[in-house]
Amino acid sequence: MSTGKIGVTTENIFPVIKQFLYSDKEIFLRELVANAVDATKKLQVLASNGEFKGELGELRVEVELDEKKKTLRIVDHGIGMTADEVDRYINQIAFSSAGEFLEKYKDQNIIGHFGLGFYSAFMVAKKVTIESLSWKEGEKAVEWSCEGNPEFSMKEGKKADRGTVITLYIDDEDKEYAEKGRISALLGKYCKFMPFPVVFGKKTEWKDGKQVETEEDNIINSVEPLWAKAPSELKDEDYLKFYHALYPMDEDPMFWIHLNVDYPFNLTGILYFPKIKERMAIDRNKIQLYCNQMFVTDHVDNIVPDFLTLLHGVIDSPDIPLNVSRSYLQSDANVKKISTYITKKVADRLEEIFKEKRSDFEAKWDNIKLFIEYGMLSDEKFCERAMGFALLKNTDGKYFSFEDYRKAIEPAQTDKDKKVVYLYASNLEEQYSQIEAAKNAGYDVLLLDCELDAHFANLLEGKLKDARFARVDSDSVDNLIPKADKVKPEMSEDDKKALQDIFKEALPTGSEWWVEPENLGENAPAVLITQSEFMRRYREMSALGGGMNFYGEMPASYNIKVNMENPLVAKIWESRKTVEDSPAGTDAEGKPTAAVTHSTAGKQKLLHQVIDLALLANGMLKGKALADFIARSESLLK
Ligand code: ADP
Repeated sequence: MSTGKIGVTTENIFPVIKQFLYSDKEIFLRELVANAVDATKKLQVLASNGEFKGELGELRVEVELDEKKKTLRIVDHGIGMTADEVDRYINQIAFSSAGEFLEKYKDQNIIGHFGLGFYSAFMVAKKVTIESLSWKEGEKAVEWSCEGNPEFSMKEGKKADRGTVITLYIDDEDKEYAEKGRISALLGKYCKFMPFPVVFGKKTEWKDGKQVETEEDNIINSVEPLWAKAPSELKDEDYLKFYHALYPMDEDPMFWIHLNVDYPFNLTGILYFPKIKERMAIDRNKIQLYCNQMFVTDHVDNIVPDFLTLLHGVIDSPDIPLNVSRSYLQSDANVKKISTYITKKVADRLEEIFKEKRSDFEAKWDNIKLFIEYGMLSDEKFCERAMGFALLKNTDGKYFSFEDYRKAIEPAQTDKDKKVVYLYASNLEEQYSQIEAAKNAGYDVLLLDCELDAHFANLLEGKLKDARFARVDSDSVDNLIPKADKVKPEMSEDDKKALQDIFKEALPTGSEWWVEPENLGENAPAVLITQSEFMRRYREMSALGGGMNFYGEMPASYNIKVNMENPLVAKIWESRKTVEDSPAGTDAEGKPTAAVTHSTAGKQKLLHQVIDLALLANGMLKGKALADFIARSESLLK
C-alpha cells in the first residue's frame, strides 16, 4: 500500500471543487457515467482494431444505489486502469490542469471541466474509492481511496473482472443524492441518449395496487438518439415519435431540420419548428445540447442565435467547449461557426418549403411568422435570406411574397413622394371601418397583428426600397393620394381657435388632441380620429422594450378631423354662433336665458355624441364613457 499527496499546486483543491468549480452539483453523475461510457467505448475500439482479443461481454454501465448505506456505485466493464494510470490520470493530470484552470478563470462563475470530471464526485461525497482492473494482460487490480483532502491511499486491489467501480460515500449534507428518486431523475436528464445501456436497479410493475420490483434490469436510456442516424433512413413518423419522446406534452411540430456536418466542425442534431403564436407562450429552454450523446444543458443561448432558441430539439457536438463560462463561449470561434451554420440551415429549409410547397408554407405561416420576424429583426444574415421567403398576409387572408405584394400595390398606392405605401391594420375588429374605407378607396390592407409588428414595419421600411408603412387609422392614409376636390374650409384664425376650444373641452383628458377643421363631404362622419403613424409606432415599440423610451412616456396623441360639411357639425357650430351673436339670449346679468340654456345643453349633447361616435369607431370608447354614451343616445332618441 502506498499513500501520497495529490499533485496540487493550490494548497487544497477540494474546497474549491465544492464551492466554486461547478455551479451545479448534480452534474457529478453525468461526469462519472460519461467516464464509464468513455472507458467502454475505448474498449470497443481496441476490440475492433484487434488489440483487445478477449471476451467483450455485455458492454453496459450499472449505477447502483444503497439508500441505507448512502453509497452510490458506478460500474463499467471498459478498459479499466492500471495503478500507474490511476496515478497519472487521477493523481497528477487532474490537478495540473486545475491549477491552470484556476489561474485563468479566477473571477468567473463557471461550470468547470478541464479534466476535473472525476473530482466532481467530491461535491457530494465525503469519500470516494476507485477499484479497477485494466484490460491489459497480466495487470493487477488497483484500489484507490480519498476522503476529500489532498491525501489519498493506493494499494493492490481484489477486483477480478475487467473494468472500473467508482464508489461514492454520500455526504450527510447531500443525502438527496442517496435517494432513488433523485438519482433516477438525474439519469433521465443526463443519460437518456448515452451510447451504451445504463442500468439502474430493476424494472418495477404494479401488483395488487403496489409497485413491486421485477427480475428485469431497468435500462434508463432506451430512447434511440435519432439524430445520429442518416436522414435518408428516417421517415416522418420517426421524427414525430422522437419529438414526443423529448416533449411528451407538446403538440406535433410543423417541420424539422436534420443537421449533419463533419467539416469544419462536428455537429449533428434535429431542430423542430413548434407552433408559435405568442411570444409569451414560448418555452425557450427546449433545445437540448449534447456532447457525444451526453446531455450538457438546455440553456443554449450564446451557442445558437437568440431567435433560434424558439425552436425545439437537440444539438450534439463534441466541438463546443461545453463546460466553460458563457462569456468565453460567445467569443469562441467554433461556436460562431456553428451558430452561422445553423442559421444558414434554417434559412435553407424555410426557403425550400417556400419554393417547393408554397401552399403548405402559407398554411403554416401564421404559426412560424413570429419566429421568422424575430429572426429578421435580430439577425442580419437571416434577414437577408428571409426577404426572399417571408410572407405578407392581407386583411382578406391572402398571402404574398414581398416581391409579389409590391407589384400588386404599386400602381394604386404610390404617394406623391414616389413612396409605395403599405397600408396595414393591427386589429380586424377594432379597425373595421378604416379597413373598409381603405378597401373602398381601392387600396389593399395588410394584417400586421403580432406583437413584433411595430418593430417589423420599421425594419421593412429600411429594407424595402422606397416604402412607407401606414396603419389604416393613421393620419398618413388620406395623404396617400392627394384628392383634388378636397379644399380646406375657409375660416378665420379666431373661428378656428374657437372650434378647437369647443372640441378640446369635450374630448377625454389624458391624451393630446390636435383638432383641425376639414371638408370631408356631407356624407362622411362628423368627426374622424387618426393617429400619427410615427408616434404610435414608437410608443408601441418602447412599450415592447427597445426603441426610445422617451416616446413611451408621452401621452398618446391623436388628430381630430372635424368635418365642417357634416350637418351635425354645422349645427354645433351654428348654435355656438347663436349664443354669441344674440345679446337677447342673455339676461341683465349676462347669464344665458332659459331658451339659450336649453339650446346650449342640446349643443353639448350633440357635441359629445359626435365625439363619442368617433371614439367608438376607433375602439376607444370604454367603461363609464361608454355607459354615458348609451344613456345619452337613448335620451336623444326619446
Ligand atoms: P476527463 O474525463 O475529462 O479526462 P476525468 O477527471 O473525469 O477527466 O478523468 C481523468 C481520466 O481518468 C480519464 O481521462 C480516464 O483516462 C481516467 N478515467 C476516469 N474514469 C475512468 C473509468 N471509469 N475507466 C477508465 N478510466 C477512467
